[in-house]
Amino acid sequence: QSGQAFEGVVEDCCCDYSTVDALNKEVLHLVLQELVKTPFFRYYKVKLWCDCPFWPDDGMCQLRDCSVCECPESEFPAAFRSSEDASCQEGRPEGVVDRTLDATAFHGWVDKDNPWTIDDETESGDLTYVNLLLNPEKYTGYKGESARRIWEAIYSQNCFENGEKDSCTERRVFYRLISGLHTSISTHIAADYLMDESTNLWGRNTSLMHDRVLRHPERVQNLYFTYLFVLRALLKAEKYLSEAEYSTGNDAEDHLTHKLMVALVGSERLRTACPIPFDEAKMWRGPDADDLKQQLQKHFRNITALMDCVGCEKCRLWGKLQISGLGTALKILFSVDGENGLDLQRNEVIALVNLLSRLSESLEVVHEMADLVRVQNRIS
Ligand code: FAD
Repeated sequence: QSGQAFEGVVEDCCCDYSTVDALNKEVLHLVLQELVKTPFFRYYKVKLWCDCPFWPDDGMCQLRDCSVCECPESEFPAAFRSSEDASCQEGRPEGVVDRTLDATAFHGWVDKDNPWTIDDETESGDLTYVNLLLNPEKYTGYKGESARRIWEAIYSQNCFENGEKDSCTERRVFYRLISGLHTSISTHIAADYLMDESTNLWGRNTSLMHDRVLRHPERVQNLYFTYLFVLRALLKAEKYLSEAEYSTGNDAEDHLTHKLMVALVGSERLRTACPIPFDEAKMWRGPDADDLKQQLQKHFRNITALMDCVGCEKCRLWGKLQISGLGTALKILFSVDGENGLDLQRNEVIALVNLLSRLSESLEVVHEMADLVRVQNRIS
């Protein structure tokens, strides 16, 4: 299969593979790429210094690229700066976030818990702002027992026993969401890989891409699924997201952010070609729906806690952000009655949009690297 175009409707979803490819390539990928560069979406508040609640820290990282780099003060929008300390990074974990910022710089954003996640923001003061553009998701050398143990712990949650073959829709959906995210992470590792340490040469690692992603069609299918699920959450929150205030103190940039968001959630092309990317109304219909939902919420909260065990700082940053993005999508689709009841934290919106952008980029990379693999196979 090797990443060739799939046919028909994405399993458990409502749109064709070919439609998703065209929409992503021609509309969504471009808008998302610009959106995540804006000041509102590029600064993420996160607790990077964490104790793993499940086992002693055994993080083993090979490369300097493991760590999240310091972001210069001049990078911050004025509205983010506190009078005392505007640094945002590693080495100075304490007191770097001025909690009054939320009140002054981000009007209209709430601080309400999400039943699907364990929320860093309300738990601790060790929060820091990270400039995501300066810390791209890529190969870090994090592998071996530590990394394997996290994935094992995630997949061994008993709701994932039967994977994509599970006859229970809700459990299958959960498995596919995680597997799709895993595919995306592997894709970014392969796309931005340290090919030669002695010359610091970075590039596309086609054999890794083939081994971990392309030769497993179901993993690529799960990537499409996760993408459509998150997209549906974004569309369901259209009114909220197009009316929200994206203010960081820079009027021109904030205006652009708003315009891009409206272009994304209000895209006519998207509405026509794929109006309901995932149909959440089909979920939670069985007699044990409430129990099942509570059980899956508990599993997902465990997964958010597992992110504190990721032993490489940059992987932890992106792991936390993307799991939080999935948790936000779950909240929008499964824990809100109608759009009027919807309240999102600023950080949740940043996580949701950055997650979709990562997934969108992965779809592009899957096609590009599948072509590369085909060409290499022809030559050799
Ligand atoms: P792994 O990717 O560790 O996979 C473990 C096992 O899971 C596989 O053997 C397979 O059985 C199964 N599996 C693999 N893919 C899927 C899938 N899509 N669906 C279902 N099952 C699957 N490394 C970096 O270099 N950069 C990063 O940014 C980074 N971020 C990470 C974030 C998190 C949250 C975690 C847990 C790890 C991260 N890592 C990162 C490590 C990376 O994901 C791998 O664990 C590492 O590269 C070793 O890969 P592996 O070949 O052993 O397989």
